[in-house]
This record gives sequence, C-alpha cells and structure tokens, in this order.
Amino acid sequence: MVDADQTFVIVGGGLAGAKAAETLRAEGFTGRVILICDERDHPYERPPLSKGYLLGKAERDSVFVHEPAWYARHDVELHLGQTVDAVDRAAKTVRFGEDGTVVRYDKLLLATGAEPRRLDIPGTGLGGVHHLRRLAHAERLKGVLASLGRDNGHLVIAGAGWIGLEIAAAARGYGAEVTVVHRGRTPLHSVLGPELGQLFAELHSDHGVRFHFGATLTEIVGQDGMVLAARTDDGEEHPAHAVLAAIGAAPRTALAESAGLELADRADGGGVLVDERLRTSDPDVYAAGDVASFPHALFGARLRVEHWANALNGGPAAARAMLGREEVYDRVPYFFTDQYDLGMEYSGWAPPGSYDQVVVRGDAGKREFIAFWVKEGRVLAGMNVNVWDVTDPIQRLIRSGARVDTEALADPHVPLESLVA
Ligand SMILES: Cc1cc2nc3c(=O)[nH]c(=O)nc-3n(C[C@H](O)[C@H](O)[C@H](O)COP(=O)(O)OP(=O)(O)OC[C@H]3O[C@@H](n4cnc5c(N)ncnc54)[C@H](O)[C@@H]3O)c2cc1C
Repeated sequence: MVDADQTFVIVGGGLAGAKAAETLRAEGFTGRVILICDERDHPYERPPLSKGYLLGKAERDSVFVHEPAWYARHDVELHLGQTVDAVDRAAKTVRFGEDGTVVRYDKLLLATGAEPRRLDIPGTGLGGVHHLRRLAHAERLKGVLASLGRDNGHLVIAGAGWIGLEIAAAARGYGAEVTVVHRGRTPLHSVLGPELGQLFAELHSDHGVRFHFGATLTEIVGQDGMVLAARTDDGEEHPAHAVLAAIGAAPRTALAESAGLELADRADGGGVLVDERLRTSDPDVYAAGDVASFPHALFGARLRVEHWANALNGGPAAARAMLGREEVYDRVPYFFTDQYDLGMEYSGWAPPGSYDQVVVRGDAGKREFIAFWVKEGRVLAGMNVNVWDVTDPIQRLIRSGARVDTEALADPHVPLESLVA
C-alpha cells in the first residue's frame, strides 16, 4: 500500500516523464509528485519537430503533452530548466538546480531520454551545423530550411535514419537542395533491412533528394564562420549552406551510471538496465522511455526502443509499477513516420539476421502495401505503408507467434484477422 505522505520523483520531462506523472494521479496516488526537467519548455512530444511543426503546418501549442495549467491542477510540482546532477541511493535523495536543492524520494523514475550523437569532425563549430532533438532546435531549423528554400541553398544531411529522412522531406517541402550522406548502402538498414530500405531511397530520389551511400562526412568546410561544403571519406565534396547531423541518439545514462545503477551492454543498445516491470538494479528506482533497456519475452531479447509509443506506454507502466502493481511491460514495439505523401506504421522487432523472408501484401510499387518480416512462418514485424487500421491485427499476428500460410499473408483478399490464431 502506498502512503499519502510518500514522494515520487521523476527525472526528465519528456513524454515518458509527463505520462508517468499523469498516471500516478489517475491511479489515485495522493503523495507528492515532483517532475524535474532540464528543458525550459513544458513537456512536449518530439515527432512533430521533424514533421508538421518543422513544416509550419502544426502550431507550437499543439506539441505539448498537457496544457501548462494541468501540472498545478494535478498537484504535480514541476521544476523546469533544472538539471538533476546527483542521485544518492543510500539517502534516497536527488540533487538538482543551480542552488543544489535536495529532495528525498520514496520512488524515483529516470526518464532522461536520449541525446543526439554529435559529428566529431573538423568544422562542426561553424554556424550552419545543426542537429534536432529539442523544440528550440526545430524553431531554428525551420528558419534555416525556409531561407535555404528561398535562396536555392543546399542542405547536407549526415545519416539516413528516420530523423534524417524526415528532415530531408521537410527541406524538400521548403524547396531546398538536399544531399543525404549515409554510411550504409540503403537507408534505415538496421530496422528495415535492404529490401524495404530501398523503397525509402526511391521515395526520396523521386522527390529530388540526392544520396551519397557508402560514405561518411570527414570535414565541414567553411568561410567566415559559415558552412560552404561537406567532404566525405571517399574524397567527394558536396556544396552546403547548412549541415544537419542525424547520426542517431545515445541514451542519457550519466546520472544512472554515477548513481551506480546497472547499465545494459552496448551490444544490446545500452541504456539503463531494467526488469520486465521497468525496475532498475535498485528496487526503488525505475526507468522508462528512450533510456530504458527492458527484456521482452516475445522477442527473447533485451530492447531499448527510441520511439514515441514506448514513451507513451512505458511512462505509465513504470508509474503503475512504482505504485506496486504487478504488471509486465511487454507492448509490441510500434512507431510511425510521415514523409511527403507516405505515411507508415511499423510494429514488432525484426533486425537484419532475425528473419528469413519478407512477405509483401499489396502494391509496393504504388507505395500502398503491408510488409511482413517472417521467420519460419512466424511474423516478427509488420509495416503498413499508406494502408490504415491494420495495426491491431498485425500486432495480434506477431503476439500469437503462430505459423501462418505466407501465400495467404501476401494475398490482400484474405482478411488479416482470419490469419490470427
Ligand atoms: C525530431 C524527432 C522526431 C521523432 N519522430 C518520431 C516519430 O515520428 N515516431 C516515433 O515513434 N518516435 C519519434 N521520435 C522519438 C520519440 O520522440 C522519443 O522516443 C521520445 O521523445 C522519448 O521520450 P522520453 O520521455 O523517453 O525522452 P525525451 O523525450 O528525450 O525526454 C527526456 C527529457 O529528460 C531531460 N533530462 C535528461 N537528463 C536530465 C537530467 N539529468 N535532469 C533533468 N532533466 C533531464 C531531457 O532534456 C528531456 O527533456 C522522434 C524524436 C525526435 C527527436
């Protein structure tokens, strides 16, 4: 039983942290809820930063998880613009802010998210080198893309992951010239494998994006402090008025590490190691969202998922666990993207090497289809592209673990529901 005089502290005011606070109150917790975040903005959702908000199609107000007044109304003590720099697990305290305020916790949630990896090459200090994680970055980038579009300017993007590609689409929307430099031979290889990665390469080529595959940036060349060009390790030079680094994100584990909490192996994606109830190696400390590495029984693997749905559901799951609920966090991983007129949703987990077949239902050429990653007849993951309202049967197929007839799986006339055991 949780007492009303208990204090639950949440470090990190992203989606996971804000949703955890909401769940604590929704579940009837009457103790103190303290939410501390180093950003000055109220908790917000990041997907619009590389889509609608970046394109100027979504208002700033639309990105926030709750309206500002919600926190006081629900008695959530919000400390914005304050960094937690120490956790003392013996004393059960956290220290935050410039004045070193110390608060005692009964339960602690680490929802510290991830941070973009930085390019470590000459020229990154020039004006015109960008990355995108925060609202302020999106605001700045919006202005950059608009002026590149106006002046026929060139943007070089390092990395053809989700964020790199979404920004490429936004930049083309503004009319900027875009070159994407990517180490691999196809975009998104670690998630989609070569078969479906090629589809995204074609989508972007059709919209005028140039790709330089099999290369990495080695130098950003500038003059008078501004970017002029970007050089790659195979000796090419691309004209550039701005460079955007989209080379992935790293989990923000420094606080957990200095507190002596166990971390996951880098080979498993790193992050703070938690059990299936999102509890760290300290039973009073939990982790959720991008920073957490949790065991997923369905896939027999430890996963660290850097996606919106994992923050949306993981924060609340951690909150319920903090309240003593016996609930296993085993959601099928899910994410989405929007690029040009392509919208897609992906459920499951099927990195290259884990599947033996990709089954396509529908017309991949028209970019209206569902792809399934299958191993020995069992669906590991499914991606619906411009096909809607199928997430539920796809996730049930994955969860069932049942062998399916792959011919029926490929046949759009066979209802997906009929394949679910
Ligand atoms: C541009 C962009 C577009 C995206 N688009 C999609 C998409 O289309 N689909 C999708 O599924 N996912 C998308 N994602 C991923 C999704 O936004 C993340 O998975 C989600 O934000 C993770 O939420 P979180 O709460 O775990 O972490 P975060 O959102 O990173 O929040 C963590 C917060 O904790 C703060 N913090 C960290 N350390 C401390 C500390 N010591 N003290 C105080 N505060 C601290 C951080 O500054 C941050 O504010 C996108 C991400 C980005 C950046």
